[in-house]
Amino acid sequence: MEVKIAQNAGFCFGVKRAMQTAWDELENKTEDKIYSLGPLIHNKQAVDKYKEKGLVEHDDLDNIPSDSKLIIRSHGVAEKVYTDSKSRNMEIVDTTCPFVKKIHNIAKDYYEKGYKIIIVGNPTHPEIIGINGWCNNEAIIISSLEEIDNITFDPTELYHVVSQTTANLELFDKIVEKLKTKIDNLTVQNTICSATKERQLSAIDLAKEVDCMVVIGGKHSSNTQKLVNICKEIVPTFSIETKDELEKEAFAAFKVAGVTAGASTPDWIIDEVIEYLKEI
Ligand code: SF4
Repeated sequence: MEVKIAQNAGFCFGVKRAMQTAWDELENKTEDKIYSLGPLIHNKQAVDKYKEKGLVEHDDLDNIPSDSKLIIRSHGVAEKVYTDSKSRNMEIVDTTCPFVKKIHNIAKDYYEKGYKIIIVGNPTHPEIIGINGWCNNEAIIISSLEEIDNITFDPTELYHVVSQTTANLELFDKIVEKLKTKIDNLTVQNTICSATKERQLSAIDLAKEVDCMVVIGGKHSSNTQKLVNICKEIVPTFSIETKDELEKEAFAAFKVAGVTAGASTPDWIIDEVIEYLKEI
């Protein structure tokens, strides 16, 4: 089987950087354990590999011993996490993606200038919880057009809009347009990261060139399933988490397979799938 790989597949720049930094820390550690606040990524195989190396994850800072080393993942955290962990003498390894860090700085800067911060995104996503923590947890978080009808905006206030890095551009634009009809003093910064879009465009390009597509990533990963749906519209598409789910017989009718992967899929899992397909 001939195998082609999407130009942008798997880890984005920010996740790759965070995972490599965490791995280097684990390789060179002098302490028994290193802690992370929440899972580094949503990929079981990767999480297990890091656990074996001595990474312990907790969702709550209070469950992490003082004086320990703490990895902050690429999603970033609220300002309070830095102050609380410093006051407990923790050593911070900060792998916050620079694109997310930029939004923290914007939120803090505009909040301190007296603006009300509006974030377009999912209110339960760790990235949004983190950004909100840089404007005193006072941001207005909007995830749909309908929600705007239930919000009362103060005409004497200034408002500044930012977005979750993985927000959908079309929805962001529509929300901003609607906000403009309700708020006079509105400034907007589109802080959507291009990584998701690039991965989707690469998948479309590749799907047009091959007989079938294999999309690797979590069944519950929304960016992976989005790739699956995009590819399905073009060619027969297999959605898998690891190579173990592949069955040779299923590829009997195909000569060229395309491979892409969601943002939380490590390179070694992609490589195993490619090797397996090439052997068919
Ligand atoms: S999707 Fe973009 S913002 Fe998010 S971690 Fe990746 S590079 Fe950073």
